Formats: sequence, C-alpha cells, structure tokens
Amino acid sequence: MSVETSAEAVPDSVERERLYSVCDYYDAESLLTDGERRVLGRLREFLDTQARPLLADYWERGEFPDQLARPLIELDLMEPAELTADGPARGIYQGFRIFELARTDASLATYFTAQAGLFRTAIRVGASEEQQREWMPKVIDFSLKGVFSLTEPESGSDIAGGLSTTARRERGSGSGPEGDTWVLDGAKRWIGGAATADVLAVFARDTADGQVKAFLVDREAEGVTLEKIRGKTALRMMQNAHITLDGVRVPEARRLHNVNSFRDVAAMLRAMRSDVAWIATGIQAGAFEAALRYVTERQQFGRPLGSFQLVQEKLARMLGNVTSSLSLVVRLNDQQGKGIYRDQDSALAKMQTSLLMRETVALAREVVGGNGITLDTDVARFHADAEAVYSYEGTHEINALIVGRALTGESAFAR
Ligand code: FAD
Repeated sequence: MSVETSAEAVPDSVERERLYSVCDYYDAESLLTDGERRVLGRLREFLDTQARPLLADYWERGEFPDQLARPLIELDLMEPAELTADGPARGIYQGFRIFELARTDASLATYFTAQAGLFRTAIRVGASEEQQREWMPKVIDFSLKGVFSLTEPESGSDIAGGLSTTARRERGSGSGPEGDTWVLDGAKRWIGGAATADVLAVFARDTADGQVKAFLVDREAEGVTLEKIRGKTALRMMQNAHITLDGVRVPEARRLHNVNSFRDVAAMLRAMRSDVAWIATGIQAGAFEAALRYVTERQQFGRPLGSFQLVQEKLARMLGNVTSSLSLVVRLNDQQGKGIYRDQDSALAKMQTSLLMRETVALAREVVGGNGITLDTDVARFHADAEAVYSYEGTHEINALIVGRALTGESAFAR
C-alpha cells in the first residue's frame, strides 16, 4: 500500500489532477481556479525540489537557508501577474498559498507570511493612501522588506495596555509637520525576520497623548540593536530578534499615518490571525501525510504499521482534524471575502486550528515511534514547530478570551 494508492481509494468525481488528494478529503481545493492551482503547483515544485532537501540540516543548525529567499521571491506569489489582470489575488488563493508552504515547513510559511501577511497588513491598514502608493508595490515585490515589531520583553499577551516603547515628537523648525522627527526608546522581542529586513514597523506609545503609533524604522538606523534569540526548540530555521531602540530618530514621513490608537493595531491582528489559522492547518496536513507515508512503509509483526486497527484510528483522527481545520479556514475566508471581519472570528479560527494542530502533530509523532523524534522523518520538525505557532499571534488563552468576550459581553482578560 502506498500513499498514492490509498489516495486513489478516495472516490474522486472530478477529472482534474488534485494537488491535495491525500489531505483534502472534501475537495476544498475545488474552490481554486485553474490559474491559482497552476501557481500553487509551481510553488509545490520549488518546495519539493529546492527547499525540502535542505530543511532537516538547516533546522538542526538553527539557520535560515538564505539561498531559498531569492527563488521564493521570484515565484511572484504575493500578487502573481497571471492572476491579477482583473484585480488583486483572491483570498482563497492566499490561504492555500500559506497552506502549501506550511504543509512543507512552518518556518518557510512564517518567513513568507512575515512579509506577505504581517508587514503587508501593517502597510495596508496603517499607511495613508499616499504612503501606500509609494510603499505597497515595493512590499509586493519584496524590494522593501519589513517586519512587524509589536511584542516587548515585558509585554506579550497584555501588549494593548502594557506597550511601553515610547515615541516623543520633536518639532521641526518649519511651519508644517514634515520637518518633525520622532525619537523612539524601548525594546521589542521575538520579531521574526528582523535580521534580513530593510525596515522594522515599530509600534510605540506617543508620550504626548498616550496612544499607540507606528513607525517604519530603518534596521540600520543609529540606536537600533538586534540580537538573535538563541536556543529555540521550535521554528529553529526562522530567525527571531530581540531589538533595542535607543534614541532612534524617525521622520514624520515614516510614521504610518492611519495608526492612531491600539484599535488600529487590533484591526491588523484580525487579518493576521486568519493567516496563522491557515499555517496551523498546513502543518497538520504535512504531519499527517508524513505519518501516513511512514506507516505505509514501516513493517512490524510482518505487516505494515498502517494495517493495525489502533494505527488506523489515529490516522482517521488526524484526517478528521485536518478536514475540520480546512473547512473552518475556508469558511472564514469566505466571510472575510464578503467584508465581514470580526475579532472573535479570526480568534476562534486561530484557537481551534491550533488546538487541533497540537493533537494532530502529537498523533503523527506517536505513530512514527522512536523515529518520530529524529529529523529523518518530517514529523519531528512539524511536532516541534507547532509549539511556536500555538503561542504566536495570540496564545490559546488570549484568543479564547476574545471569543468569550464576544459571547458574554464580559471582558475577562484582567482578573
Ligand atoms: P505571555 O503573555 O507572558 O503569556 C504566558 C502564558 O500566560 C500564556 O499561556 C498566556 O496565554 C497566559 N496568559 C497571559 N495572560 C493571560 C490571561 N489574562 N488569562 C489567562 N492566561 C493568560 N511578536 C511580534 O510582535 N512580531 C513577531 O514577528 C513575532 N513573532 C513571533 C515568533 C515566535 C516564534 C514567537 C514564539 C513569538 C512571536 N511573537 C512576535 C510574539 C508572540 O506574539 C507572543 O509570544 C505572544 O503574544 C505571547 O506573548 P508572551 O510570549 O509574552 O507570553
């Protein structure tokens, strides 16, 4: 029995060749156009031939394979020319793009989403129309690489109230605000991709009105210090930085003009949490497929592991989790496509897919036995990396509290 033959056992009424015949039981990919599937097919080819052979080695070394960055950019995934003649790329394509990346590797998905999700969202929501005209094309073609710098050493879950990086405005000598400069002081933690970014989107509290504002800080500006966070046991390929800002000067023109309070940051988080729900779904697909491959090939008691009832029960649970998660993110994408963005919707999706992800990667790791803790099979990498995804973009508890507040009208964050 091979993975391919077990996939053939799934009755498939459609003629087209499936991208996800093993993990997408209810054929969510039928929502993609042929053009979108072609772009995803090219991404698959790149991941299988260029990325996959490097993953275990770079994961173990705790380094990002920089040689993948340029070819990944050249795939033109963010707004692919062939899909965007009539407007921006559709949400369902964007979701499956993240799914495809995460199905291969969570660090690669996080790396891409740092630019295509976090930084792009910061510009889309936070920049004025004029600023967007200048920056957005460069964000899309990666000629302006940026990261999202919100979390601080002393504030993670309570960042809305706890954010303590300060921004002090110094008036210029002219009559208008153009000559004004802001001076930033503070520290940021966990910032993904900072070491290779051109600019850091830094969130800081205005000392004058106490509101949160956002600034594009040059990574190499005077007063900026970056330190790699070492010793991580998850997402080891992805680089995260501890950033210190010491009297960093930023011109008013580099302030994101539409960020005037934490409410505007919350609007960004709504979009970003949906992306992470797709990552959590993709990780499950990757772990499930790797586990299925393994139990098909490995023999014990003279038979493939996959022939044992107790192993099949675990396979069924994994597939159930992937299918539930995929159904959830596809439906959320549909809602957002209609313009319905609510905090509780993306929080629920991030919370639920991450919960299921934890179970799925644990089951995958279990059926692979001792080899499930080595990098020889992909499941150990998915198993370890899932822990970072479980915690970033709002922990389980914080997303549950967002849903709880929507259900009851009671905010239970601080008790
Ligand atoms: P804490 O806030 O200290 O929480 C610790 C635990 O306490 C959690 O279980 C939490 O749920 C629980 N807890 C806290 N408050 C409550 C409460 N009221 N009720 C119940 N339980 C509670 N941030 C960025 O700005 N940019 C990035 O690019 C970025 N990338 C990241 C990449 C990785 C790999 C990681 C691990 C983090 C990243 N983060 C980033 C930060 C991430 O968003 C935070 O780690 C996350 O918000 C949680 O904050 P914390 O780690 O400080 O945990």
